[in-house]
Amino acid sequence: MKPSNRILSGVQPSGDLHLGNYLGAIKNFVSLQHEYECFFCVVDLHAITVWQDPQQLSHKIREVIAAFIASGIDPKKNILFSQSQVPQHTQLAWIFNCVARMGWLNRMTQFKDKAGKDKENVSVGLFSYPTLMAADILIYLATHVPVGEDQKQHLEFTRDIAQKFNNDFNTDFFPLTKPLIFGEGTRVMSLRDGTKKMSKSDISEYSRIMLNDSPDEIVQKIKKAKTDPLPLPASIKDASKRPEVYNLLSIFAALKDISTENAVQQYAGKDFALFKQDLTDLVVEKIQPISKEISKLMNDQLYLDSIMIDGKNKAIVEADSVLTKVYDIVGLQKP
Ligand code: ATP
Ligand code: MG
Repeated sequence: MKPSNRILSGVQPSGDLHLGNYLGAIKNFVSLQHEYECFFCVVDLHAITVWQDPQQLSHKIREVIAAFIASGIDPKKNILFSQSQVPQHTQLAWIFNCVARMGWLNRMTQFKDKAGKDKENVSVGLFSYPTLMAADILIYLATHVPVGEDQKQHLEFTRDIAQKFNNDFNTDFFPLTKPLIFGEGTRVMSLRDGTKKMSKSDISEYSRIMLNDSPDEIVQKIKKAKTDPLPLPASIKDASKRPEVYNLLSIFAALKDISTENAVQQYAGKDFALFKQDLTDLVVEKIQPISKEISKLMNDQLYLDSIMIDGKNKAIVEADSVLTKVYDIVGLQKP
């Protein structure tokens, strides 16, 4: 029987996790874990599409697992693992490389943003990243994927692959997976530039608040966060014309579980110093317990490894059964 309520989502071990990862993705994983059967993975094979220090990588992989657990994901109820440990992802990705069209990949904005002017010199993996992402999702026949707004296009691409595969092989095997993009933090922007998303790979540490920042670092980063000389906006319409200001208000709203409109009303016409103080207190209050728990878990490598081994074993069972069916549909011999 095909799953009807299954989630797959991933986070790259490409740097320290930040508020965007938390508000756009991990916080939502926590609230969805009771309604869905969930597979949460550390997408290490995506991370190496750009160079990663081999000395650091396994530490960073464990750190993402620790962040999942520290944020409230139950490791007993959900399947937590790293992508590279389940080889069926890459096996399916190859088949999807043969289904996806060059024109589709050429339209991907994440590639354009990440490659910038250096398009000829980036890895082939960075270009074909979305076919592996489609395989991550469809190897579990996942029906839903909670992600930040930046991944919407890759989810559309995943549906295109599923649809083309189904058409090409006259089947209804793959589901047309739906994105779950919700909350006030679906696109947290850089603290230095309100037109750029907050990213692990941004060179400026002042562009993001990390889950492992100390209270002092949080104070400094919010103090230095770009704003403008005007008082806080009186309406959501005014706020949306000021990207940096809108961003800080929506971070506040997301952490407080209120709407951004509500946050705007609360601070309308007030001075930035007051708002930044309240925002700092709120970020510290919400982030500190997670950060402390991450450090604690990182001191228990055996525990983290046992979670990942257990997760990998469960994931492989599911992935292998799907891959066997896919090989059969395509006419390849049983893997
Ligand atoms: P990188 O810069 O290496 O791509 P990243 O910060 O974009 O790292 P990912 O691991 O690629 O992080 O993304 C993990 C999850 O976090 C995805 O669901 C993604 O949509 C979400 N996410 C990433 N950045 C933001 C952001 N600024 N706001 C909201 N969600 C985000
Ligand atoms: Mg990303």
